[in-house]
Amino acid sequence: MDVSESASDANGREELPDNEAEWREELSEEEYRILRERGTEARFSGDYVDHDGDGEYRCAGCDEILFDGETKYDSGCGWPAFYAAEEDNVVRKSDDRHGMRRVEVLCANCDGHLGHVFQDGPEDKTGERFCINSAAIDYDGE
Ligand SMILES: [Zn+2]
Repeated sequence: MDVSESASDANGREELPDNEAEWREELSEEEYRILRERGTEARFSGDYVDHDGDGEYRCAGCDEILFDGETKYDSGCGWPAFYAAEEDNVVRKSDDRHGMRRVEVLCANCDGHLGHVFQDGPEDKTGERFCINSAAIDYDGE
């Protein structure tokens, strides 16, 4: 069995919606558009662009812990940026939409679209920039 060293996956996870109609009821319109329809919020529009704090950021769809506030940094890109993710809790997938070759980041638990990861992050850290929609995450300060 996989015994985690941290208590970070001991979150009382609720059952996930079974279908898109249930997701629609569960999520706000903006959350649904981003998480379920792989949308993107407008630059500098999200709640967490300039948000600070060393708590955790959880998936807005299923409450999974996705990012640590300590890895958040000011990238100037207009979306919350992190140089690392909870790797076990996210999935990377190539995304060729919109004529660009990008790597999409999804929640491993509920499959929700979170944003993209780019290779222009801080070089003294991981070199990666997780560019994440505010509406796809919820900050958990305690
Ligand atoms: Zn999720």
